[in-house]
Amino acid sequence: MSYSKAMPFDLKNKRVFVCGHRGMVGSAIVRQLVHEDCIILTADRERLDLREQTQVRAWFNAEKPDAVFLAAAKVGGILANDSKPADFLYDNLAIEMNVIEAAFRTGVEKLLYLGSSCIYPKLAPQPIPENALLTGSLEPTNEAYAIAKIAGLKLCQAYRRQYFADFIAAMPTNLYGPGDNYDLTSSHVIPALLRKSHEAKRAGHSEITIWGTGTPRREFLHVDDAASALVHLMKVYSGMEHVNVGTGEDVTIMDVAKLICDVVAFTGTIATDPSKPDGTPHDHARPAEGPFRRQHPPRRQGPHPGPVLGPASAALCCR
Ligand code: NDP
Repeated sequence: MSYSKAMPFDLKNKRVFVCGHRGMVGSAIVRQLVHEDCIILTADRERLDLREQTQVRAWFNAEKPDAVFLAAAKVGGILANDSKPADFLYDNLAIEMNVIEAAFRTGVEKLLYLGSSCIYPKLAPQPIPENALLTGSLEPTNEAYAIAKIAGLKLCQAYRRQYFADFIAAMPTNLYGPGDNYDLTSSHVIPALLRKSHEAKRAGHSEITIWGTGTPRREFLHVDDAASALVHLMKVYSGMEHVNVGTGEDVTIMDVAKLICDVVAFTGTIATDPSKPDGTPHDHARPAEGPFRRQHPPRRQGPHPGPVLGPASAALCCR
């Protein structure tokens, strides 16, 4: 995989629109941008529904952002994705289409689009290189979401190819951290496990049950590390290829469950429910290589080897 030469984009004094600023990733990007000497623009969904083209065009015309982080999306875990494919496909296509097109129309200098590692085929080689995209079938439980995310990525590439727009795309791995969603019907694996084990401990239960077999492997990244990498990419990367953002390490769901139970001090047993879907067997993206690559010191605390988790997670579930 070859990447375009790194190209600096100075955020100083730029009007930077963070779409989805109340979400987990968007709020982490806002936290990072506070250190960048730029003007941060946000709009609540009540004022600007990004599925509505007229509203989006009017907002871009009025606010004239110079740069955009497209971190707004309809996001959810396996259950939500599997049971609401129409919503996941329609909402995400509409948001991407409206924001990317309005950004182009109003001369936005740089846009960073957020996809996710679920865009890759279910049986992609591990760790997943960027060029595994569109080489096989997707995981059926999140196919609708993945198709929408792939379409957004392709739209950025198409504007770059046809109009030379500096629109780039990043594919973060599974994220966790402040602002995560703890609703068991729509949450991702870490907040779901935190909530289950914390509630089981409080209720004095002796067992929690996790979805699936516990054997699938996943890679996890703290959302503040992801946001730092995204701001870095915005500043230094300009190229057609999308860029994986991750840690380079993966772990089984069962190991994550054990770690979380340790963190919240739940001492009961962990049962599996193989009647529930596992999702994709592996989800471990190969971290990007290239002139923009940057290593973070690992956000790892406590005595446990393995995934990037620690006391911060325990604090989250006790809010
Ligand atoms: P969240 O659900 O936490 O946040 C999504 C944000 O999008 C919210 O602020 C939400 O607004 C906003 N939004 C959704 N629909 C609309 C709409 N119609 N109009 C305006 N705003 C809307 O998601 P995340 O922060 O977790 O995800 C953001 C991006 O990061 C997504 O593109 C996702 O694919 C990507 N990503 C996330 C990962 C993860 O593990 N969470 C992993 C990899 C990628 P409101 O606050 O009003 O609900």
